[in-house]
Amino acid sequence: MGNFEIFSQPGGLIVTLFTLGCLLVAGILAAKEDRLFSPISFLLTAFVFDFCGTWVEKLAVTAFEQGNAVETYVMFELLLFLAAMIFMSSAASRFISVSSRGSSSLPVWILGGLGGVAVILFTVILPAGDLVNRMRLIFPLVAFLYLSVGLAARFSDDHSDGYVLAFGITVILTILVGLKFFQVYAPWYTTPMSYILYGLSFLLMKSNILENKLDKSEQDIAKYNRRIEEIIKSSPFPIIISRLGDDRIILANDNAVKLFGIDAKVLDHYHLKDFFADSDNRRLLLERIEEQKEVQDFEVLIKTPVSDTPFWLLTSANIIDYNYDLALYSAFQDITSRKNREVLLQNQAIRDPLTALYNRRYFEDEVKKQILKAKAAGQPYSVLMLDADFFKKVNDTYGHKTGDKVLIELAAKAEKALRDKDIVARYGGEEFVVFLPEINSVQAYKVADRLRQSIASIVIYSDDNQEVRFTVSIGVSSSEISDNVDTLVKTADEALYKAKQGGRNRVEVFTRDDMKNFLSQSEQMSKDEKKNLHPIYDKENTAEISLLDGVDAKDIASGSGE
Ligand code: GH3
Ligand code: MG
Ligand code: MG
Repeated sequence: MGNFEIFSQPGGLIVTLFTLGCLLVAGILAAKEDRLFSPISFLLTAFVFDFCGTWVEKLAVTAFEQGNAVETYVMFELLLFLAAMIFMSSAASRFISVSSRGSSSLPVWILGGLGGVAVILFTVILPAGDLVNRMRLIFPLVAFLYLSVGLAARFSDDHSDGYVLAFGITVILTILVGLKFFQVYAPWYTTPMSYILYGLSFLLMKSNILENKLDKSEQDIAKYNRRIEEIIKSSPFPIIISRLGDDRIILANDNAVKLFGIDAKVLDHYHLKDFFADSDNRRLLLERIEEQKEVQDFEVLIKTPVSDTPFWLLTSANIIDYNYDLALYSAFQDITSRKNREVLLQNQAIRDPLTALYNRRYFEDEVKKQILKAKAAGQPYSVLMLDADFFKKVNDTYGHKTGDKVLIELAAKAEKALRDKDIVARYGGEEFVVFLPEINSVQAYKVADRLRQSIASIVIYSDDNQEVRFTVSIGVSSSEISDNVDTLVKTADEALYKAKQGGRNRVEVFTRDDMKNFLSQSEQMSKDEKKNLHPIYDKENTAEISLLDGVDAKDIASGSGE
């Protein structure tokens, strides 16, 4: 490609050096791409050797024209062209073997060997001017031919404009060198032009490689997406993928479509948040995901267009890349039955199985809390103690089953007649307790009496279809007496005893005046080693109804001091 005319043209050398500089810069930029580093650095080296060879050729011609000896010049010139050929063919080998690793350097060795033999042969053993003239053409000719083969090998790449351009230039240069055999010389400016075009093709090669990489990563992403879809489809769990940005559902497997009752054809019409029955529950989930990027076994309450009641699911969620977006991958497990069992167990712990009212333990725990709240707010409260009158007779007359029915109806009536915030509990046997927040003893008396009347109006039927009616006696205590649950219950029970004594089916209030009597009785009880002497002591519920157990006179005194 070198053309020694550049040294005789005015400005030819400057233009050529400038374009060679451009070629080197373009080559260095392109060689930053790993795959291009070795072929392009070999090519650049070849171009520099070729340029130097051309310069020495010019020196040889000048020396020849002046009648001086040229052998040394010619040998250097040929050696430089030989080196250019070796580097160019190495580059060609590397273009060929970019894909098939283990570049074949054999052709380079053969070319280099033959070239070396030729240089020695024609310059040392058989010096013949005419043959030397051919030699300086044969090296570039062989190099260009091989380079064009190397470049053509890259045409199979998806993007190969750079290789095509370089191939085109190389073929033209091969033809031009070929024409020199027939003394047809190309103009000097073909050299700088070819430098510029090679530089351009180097940059194109780099962009081709980047485009190929981009294609490859797009294919990889498509493959990854398909893989995710396959995994999701084959999962036995319902799985939903939703875009993080707008919360729209972008993928859902059959199990999720069924469970959430959504139309698989218009997935993106749905937002995941629409399925959360409790927005706080969802907020907590999102906070966790934001903090930890993934969440395992988080319980979510879900509502769907197809189910009347919300249900519990266990979800594991994490953030993934899907289709160039950040997405939330959520896998679900239906835990409704587990949740139901939990609720059942919890109820078993705090509810009475016969009447479904709260049990005594729950009542005491809950009332303790309520009393603290009421005290803080400066509000009154009252406690009622109810006992069915002559209940033994109901059992004896109509049977135990009818007795149970009475207790159930009594409980239901009490629940219905009282406010939601009132706490009704079965205290034991046929005894019930009620906590009335915000109600003082005067109001409590009225509430209790209304309750007594509505219970008295209940009619149930025994197995042999006889009408069964029953009454209750009620004792009332209040925040005016104590702020201690035990004392409140015991004093209410004391009032209840009074109601029984007074003829039953009535309400009695424990007053401050009753206190003195109660305290001395309590002391007497302690002295009698807490013998169970109370008339309404229930043999079946010793532990529950032993009224004066642990009554602390100080409790009552402090309660009364309010
Ligand atoms: P009083 O008016 O003095 O309260 O008389 P009473 O008969 O209601 O009182 P007592 O304490 O002598 O009898 C209570 C009875 O309640 C005795 C017990 O067998 C019965 N009982 C306790 N728990 C249940 C229950 O769950 N079901 C039924 N059917 N009877 C129960
Ligand atoms: Mg009774
Ligand atoms: Mg009783």
